[in-house]
Amino acid sequence: MAEKKDPSEIEIIGFDSIESDKYDRQKRIRGWDQKKITNARIMVIGVGATGNELVKNLVMAGVGTILLIDYDLIETSNLNRCILFNAKAAKKKKYKVDVVKEACRILNPDVEIITIKEDLNNIDKDLYKQYDVVCSCLDNIEARLEANNYAYYYNIPFIDSGIDGYFGTVQAVYSKMQTSSCLQCGISNVDLDLMWRKFSCTGQEIDSQNGETMEKMATLITTTSIIGGIQTQQVLKFILGTDYFDKYKKWNPKIGEPLVGKQLNYNGLTNKFNIINKIKDPNCWTCSFIKENE
Ligand SMILES: [Zn+2]
Repeated sequence: MAEKKDPSEIEIIGFDSIESDKYDRQKRIRGWDQKKITNARIMVIGVGATGNELVKNLVMAGVGTILLIDYDLIETSNLNRCILFNAKAAKKKKYKVDVVKEACRILNPDVEIITIKEDLNNIDKDLYKQYDVVCSCLDNIEARLEANNYAYYYNIPFIDSGIDGYFGTVQAVYSKMQTSSCLQCGISNVDLDLMWRKFSCTGQEIDSQNGETMEKMATLITTTSIIGGIQTQQVLKFILGTDYFDKYKKWNPKIGEPLVGKQLNYNGLTNKFNIINKIKDPNCWTCSFIKENE
């Protein structure tokens, strides 16, 4: 009869290499390609509540390069929902992008973080071309539409998110899905004026000026982490699946289809998600007019 071995003496072949690869468990997902994740360059506009969740997820998944655009300073009132901020930084009123960059370095030093402390209006528009996916995590409709328009023009996938208390939305835009709507679709100047005054996704009237909210919105960490998670999932679908879509004009079933032309709505009161198709406006000056004139 063979002598029983002490379990600590049993050699597990390859154990070291499996446990020393921080991406081992995600590499086990069907269709996953860590090289694509490592080579990916993502632009994130706005690093508030949802931006924190999105960036944290992208960094932990090992996305190679992330550009953060935000000129805001951290306030103590941000600390209930922003995992990458801290009380010391709030006390010193540090720039959000600087503090997020430092926190990301600790989370995953493999990731390169680039920061810009500027209004989106002032950035060099050629920057868009250097990124694979553009994300907006803003409460400013004017900036969201600007990001939508440039991303569309340069054929870069764009993912927008919005939150309001227990409610949240995620919508994706991709110019190579030409029959799908963009964020600008169906928005007239009258609508824009109304949205600047009351743009909340619950329809609640909020004072604002030039698309910037004047009144502080209700925000909750559960909603921001759910919406930030879903927005991250869209980024991963584009990183892993855009090559396949561009080649075969359909999404790789192993990766799944992103929410292009669709709006996912989350309702934390009823515990329900629903997805609505956004109708493309044949007169939309972003996704109809530009392409027809190319
Ligand atoms: Zn459009």
